[in-house]
Amino acid sequence: MPLIHMGDMLNHAYRNRYAVGAFDLVSLDFLEAIITGAEACQAPVILSLAESHFEYFDFELIMPAVEAAARRSAVPVAIHLDHGASLESAQRGIRLGCNGIMVDNSMAPLAQNIERTHAVATMAHACDIPVEGELGYVAGVEGEDAQRHPGEVVYTSAEEARHYVESTGVDFLAVSIGTVHGRMKGEPNLDFERLAQINRALSLPLVIHGGTGLSPTQFQRLIAEGVSKINYYTALADAAGQQLADNLERGARGYTQSVKDVQGAIRDEVERCIKLWGGAGRAKELLRQCRPWQNVEHLIFYNLSCSEPEAAEIIAEGERVLGTIPGVRQIFAGKTLKDSDHYRYCWRVQFASAAVVDSYREHPAHMSYADTYFRPNARDRLTEDFAPALTVLKQSGGEEASGGEHPAASAS
Ligand SMILES: [Zn+2]
Repeated sequence: MPLIHMGDMLNHAYRNRYAVGAFDLVSLDFLEAIITGAEACQAPVILSLAESHFEYFDFELIMPAVEAAARRSAVPVAIHLDHGASLESAQRGIRLGCNGIMVDNSMAPLAQNIERTHAVATMAHACDIPVEGELGYVAGVEGEDAQRHPGEVVYTSAEEARHYVESTGVDFLAVSIGTVHGRMKGEPNLDFERLAQINRALSLPLVIHGGTGLSPTQFQRLIAEGVSKINYYTALADAAGQQLADNLERGARGYTQSVKDVQGAIRDEVERCIKLWGGAGRAKELLRQCRPWQNVEHLIFYNLSCSEPEAAEIIAEGERVLGTIPGVRQIFAGKTLKDSDHYRYCWRVQFASAAVVDSYREHPAHMSYADTYFRPNARDRLTEDFAPALTVLKQSGGEEASGGEHPAASAS
């Protein structure tokens, strides 16, 4: 259950004036440190995976671990693709288990940024997945990750932000008001007046990238002006690196001795941030108000009225085509082990969420496959969509799942 709808999470933070940490992870040490840190603080947390880090780990291999950690966690968790570069990366992120997507076209000219971000938001919203856009440009100056964000800072203006949000439909906005990615020399100069204007114009959760190196007072002012998600990585990487260096200096040899206590060093920094940003102790209240994030199983039992070679062709085509539809996570095409009096074949298609039931049915690739290949040969069939039984029973038993209400909507 503690994998929850990221929109509910950030809207709760926005309404209650705290910020959720979106900690980028690059290994299992980071994953465990972030989760245990959040649990120790009883705080919601976002497990964030930055596309620019994919050269350091295998995204496809790490995601089952990320998802397992989220599902067994005692605190509310969301899984976020950070700085996704394209529609394809967003779709892949959703397939692998992300339930929040950031699309970053902030380096492109505004019209292009709007067009590409709108395409991602339309696709993701059909899966009930919220999207973070970025307007203005958060550059990097030095240190960990900064070289990936070259160039000068471009500030976000309130007027442009309103136009951007209306045209793209993004749910959260990363703004550029003076922070930079990576380490900073001296204290950054943040434009709080600009942030306040943006917040008044948008009334939706704002996001800050480049949180490393800001002072407690700066964080508090950011949160007071609508920042509900803080992306944070460099200081975690520094804490891990320092622990490694200390271990080596003390004569550690080999891998396990060298990485000893690295997890603890990351976790200490995670806990420090969560407490500083006001998220500590919020888990229980949020869990009562949010929607759980759950996959849906689309099951079809059927018989085919064609020859076996034709059946093989129909199934192979289905595996190929249906797997490309946004929100489809996994496809299993089965045949009974023994002859059956009932149904000989099945499809089990896993959807990212209940919303995909509709968007999948109406998707052109599905319609054309169903009309051309499947339905003419599988007239005898049974189709149902399933969510986890206990969650459904609990929800229909009267437990109110609110929290989907948007602060912008409730304000008007
Ligand atoms: Zn960033």
